[in-house]
Amino acid sequence: MNSETTRVISAMRPNGRLHLGHLHGALHQWRKIQYQYECLFMVADIHGLINQYHINTNQESLITEMLIDWLATGIDPSQATIFIQSKIPEHFELLNLLGIITPLGWLERVPSYKEVIDKLDHTEASTYGLLGSPLLQASDILVYNAKLVLTNEDQMANLELTREIARRFNYLFGRDEGYQDKALDSIKKLGSKKAAIYENLLIRYQQNGDESALERAKYLLQDALNLSHGDRERLLAFLENKGKVYLPEPQRLINNSQLIVGLDGATMSVCAENTINIREDSASVTNKIRGMKTDPARIRRTDKGTPSKCPVWKLHQIYSKQEVCDWVEMGCLSAGIGCLDCKQPLIDEINHEQSIFIENAKPYEEDQTLVKRIISDGCSRAREIAADNLKLIKQAMNIDY
Ligand code: SF4
Repeated sequence: MNSETTRVISAMRPNGRLHLGHLHGALHQWRKIQYQYECLFMVADIHGLINQYHINTNQESLITEMLIDWLATGIDPSQATIFIQSKIPEHFELLNLLGIITPLGWLERVPSYKEVIDKLDHTEASTYGLLGSPLLQASDILVYNAKLVLTNEDQMANLELTREIARRFNYLFGRDEGYQDKALDSIKKLGSKKAAIYENLLIRYQQNGDESALERAKYLLQDALNLSHGDRERLLAFLENKGKVYLPEPQRLINNSQLIVGLDGATMSVCAENTINIREDSASVTNKIRGMKTDPARIRRTDKGTPSKCPVWKLHQIYSKQEVCDWVEMGCLSAGIGCLDCKQPLIDEINHEQSIFIENAKPYEEDQTLVKRIISDGCSRAREIAADNLKLIKQAMNIDY
């Protein structure tokens, strides 16, 4: 794969101020991959609304703050295309087109949909937007022909759905005239028993994405000695729908970044209210870390502790040099240092990093037209790619009149 021309998409919802969890969970990797691939970084504002439509937030200012965080932490608009989902109408046109061919059951079985439905209280409606959210995600990816999607493990089911929808689209619209009739003739040559098995496996693979069905069908064709080479090749191609591929199936680019602990030791998240924000001032960072939970066994200064039971230690492992980590480990195990002593180098490191972000953000905070210009350029670029692809998709569907 030529990484220079491989298009990658990744997105973030503007649902609150970004914190160190976003920095270590996504932005560090975005910063790295923007030099390796053609990157599209999307503000997923409509996805943000789907989950929080009933909460009256100032979406525009959240988006601006988020973009300033991206820029301050090293996302470079000369390397990556930065854009806002709602500014690209092609996403929503493709959503409607894909809705025509997507079986309802595929959306109903998406685990994240079922989880959200289970958590809704009686005042909240189960909306069409919620059900269609994975389809919108598929459109976000497929409208750019993105080959890779940088995503976390919990989004794998949605990515798999995107792949299934792409496969189904190619199956329905990517074949030449007579392709199906010729394939049906070849199937008949398998004999009735094997033909029935082949058809069953074909449906399981193409409709449900069952990879084991694909492998079994390939074995079946290899064993069908009465088939000519041409028929076998045709049925292999038919199986994998090797007609014209309008929508390439995207692969996952594994997100190697780290989950980070919050002030209370749980994963850092806005909901848990245990965050240190990106661009937080030094007094606030200092107070928060000074108040962080530690190993509960260290009640008195003279009590020995165990670093692995302490969230402060987990942050040290991310932020501190090896010699500091060694000093913490020894000092904690022997009660040679107190917890406030231990926290100070961590406070210094985080504040140093924050000071860089704060400095980087200044030009954008002082003149927000800079941010607007970056977004405007990014949206124009994204729209160009999306419009070209949508044109081909509409051609495939015979609606390019
Ligand atoms: Fe945690 Fe450091 Fe205190 Fe040990 S000395 S419990 S690692 S804060």
